[in-house]
Amino acid sequence: MTPQHHTPQLRHRATEILDRLRRHIELRCELDFTTPLELAVAAILAAQCTDKRVNTVTPALFKKYRTAHDYANAEPTELETLIQSTGFFRNKAKSIRALGAALLQHHNGELPRTLDALIKLPGIGRKTANLLLADAFGQPGLIIDTHQIRVNQRLGITQQTDPTKIEIELRDLLPPADWTDWSHALTLHGRYTCLARKPLCAQCPLTDLCPYFAAHPLRH
Ligand code: SF4
Repeated sequence: MTPQHHTPQLRHRATEILDRLRRHIELRCELDFTTPLELAVAAILAAQCTDKRVNTVTPALFKKYRTAHDYANAEPTELETLIQSTGFFRNKAKSIRALGAALLQHHNGELPRTLDALIKLPGIGRKTANLLLADAFGQPGLIIDTHQIRVNQRLGITQQTDPTKIEIELRDLLPPADWTDWSHALTLHGRYTCLARKPLCAQCPLTDLCPYFAAHPLRH
């Protein structure tokens, strides 16, 4: 798929958006982790939960379980109790145990380093696979979460609503070296400024680049 609207002007605007957000925001993953496995587990816990809450749960969790073997053999109730406050804890515990088992069975207990292999693992969708590539392995990753969808749309970067289609469009629009920063920049911008219900446009450095702002002048 070659998106037809990726004109030089749009590419230039995307570059300008990223430059400004780089100056405005400290770009980083807000989940706390020290190993790829910890990031994978934290990402599973972050479904329907804030990164902040996940970060309150993971210190004790990561102290008790350190390897894929530990997770694969975790006693279900003990694991569930430790992650309970992140919500949907039974399903999350099941995914984490299954992830540990799959890593042991197919990857010598280590996380693989390719998108194709990562998305085959239990509990790891495309978004988390890209997060792992970007933040655990230092490879380019386009992490399309709910903030990313909304902010890309408001900025007129995409009309798509499907995360995979947005990822494909962004792969064409941006050089791989910018994928990870773009992911963190737009997600953090969406989390703290371009809020879903009422974007804080008065604090935004992108107003002159934003079609949503131009179309909703009375709201700001
Ligand atoms: S101007 Fe408003 S709507 Fe546009 S990106 Fe900034 S905060 Fe979001």
